[in-house]
Amino acid sequence: MIASVFGGLWRRPLTALCAGLLGSVAAQAASAADCPGHPDAIGTSRTIVVDPRAHPIIGTMQYNKTLPLEDHEVVLTFDDGPLPKYSNQILDILAAHCAKATFFLVGRQAKDNPAGVRKVRDAGHTVATHTQNHPSGMHHLPLDRSKQEIEQGIASVTAALADGTAPAPFLRIPGLRSTDGIEEFAASKGLQVWSADFPADDWRNVPAARVYDLAIQRLEAKGKGILLLHDIQPRTVAALPRILHELKVRGFRIVHVVPATADRPATPTEPAQWLLHPPSETVAISRWPKIPKFASAGPAALPVPALSDLDWRTSGLGVPAPRRGRGVPLPSVAPWPRQTTLLPTGTSASLPVPAASLFKIPESARMTMLASSARRAATAQARSTEVSAAKLTDKPRRNGRASAAQPPAAAGPAAQAPQSAGANAPKPAAQAKRNGRSVRVAGKR
Ligand SMILES: [Zn+2]
Repeated sequence: MIASVFGGLWRRPLTALCAGLLGSVAAQAASAADCPGHPDAIGTSRTIVVDPRAHPIIGTMQYNKTLPLEDHEVVLTFDDGPLPKYSNQILDILAAHCAKATFFLVGRQAKDNPAGVRKVRDAGHTVATHTQNHPSGMHHLPLDRSKQEIEQGIASVTAALADGTAPAPFLRIPGLRSTDGIEEFAASKGLQVWSADFPADDWRNVPAARVYDLAIQRLEAKGKGILLLHDIQPRTVAALPRILHELKVRGFRIVHVVPATADRPATPTEPAQWLLHPPSETVAISRWPKIPKFASAGPAALPVPALSDLDWRTSGLGVPAPRRGRGVPLPSVAPWPRQTTLLPTGTSASLPVPAASLFKIPESARMTMLASSARRAATAQARSTEVSAAKLTDKPRRNGRASAAQPPAAAGPAAQAPQSAGANAPKPAAQAKRNGRSVRVAGKR
């Protein structure tokens, strides 16, 4: 039984793994064939068509949805261009790999370098927008300003394309500093807000090697997703060839994303595919039985209690009580019963005085007590010696032990005292105890 269960569990991933490997091999073979002159190119394994209106926000850095990618699929994105010096090198590297990406262009940059925008388009990449002026604190801007930034950015890139076409309705907010208002506005315009699944920190002042490390580590950690890079950074230019090479070595595949149009329908997907970690057959929680819906068989309402069922003590609870200051209102009369004082009836208040003979201890018993006291003293002495031998020589502690280990002296009066008064008897023992305690406290300081 157990073996068959495990057999079943093993077969499934193995089949999936084989299918994945075959798919990966097929994709790589196809990409090499698709990239003539570049046998080591990673290529572009497939293109997916997405409908922004159906999925207005994506990217797990901010949202719980992302692109419907398979395991080991990567979408490359580049922000902030075009800046000829570096953007052109990025385009060359991607061309050498036949890898298609999405470029989120800044309107002002497009205005300064419209040819750069057309280069991106002519290379077959997706042209998207990234606002007009790239405001760093867009979440602090009045919503009208944000709307203006978004619309001007689209207008500038549209003008740079100069062929009557508009950029893809994909929008990335600068610094990913989006707000609900911005997202609502974008959705109303049919724009898809792209966050990312992982950055590689290439906008920070870090070496190219660090950019490479972060890209690979974070991609491996999530297994797939949208990688956020910048085509205006020299460190990105330096890191990108290594990143693409390593992605290929590790079996990752590049996916190109384009928007759906009237004559290009969206790639069919299931809603669960848009979640980074959709519930799967192997996730235990999805196998828990659902809580059944209990249908009420009895009457819907319970009988109203009779007034006589209510105890008089609780009747006061329903009466609104006067407020005392600003605290919780208290009932004027406590609803719980007062404690009654029980008067002694008939029983005598005093007990008889015990007879003196009660305290008499026979001579034999006294001897036994002394003997056992002596034994205890001997044991305590031996223990004290052991402790000394163990080099616990701090003086107050030893004194404490010594006084505690003096039952003969203590036992003497204790044994002789009983007849005189009970109050005197415990004194030496209490003294020893007090000494011991004070010593212990002193030792802890
Ligand atoms: Zn940016």
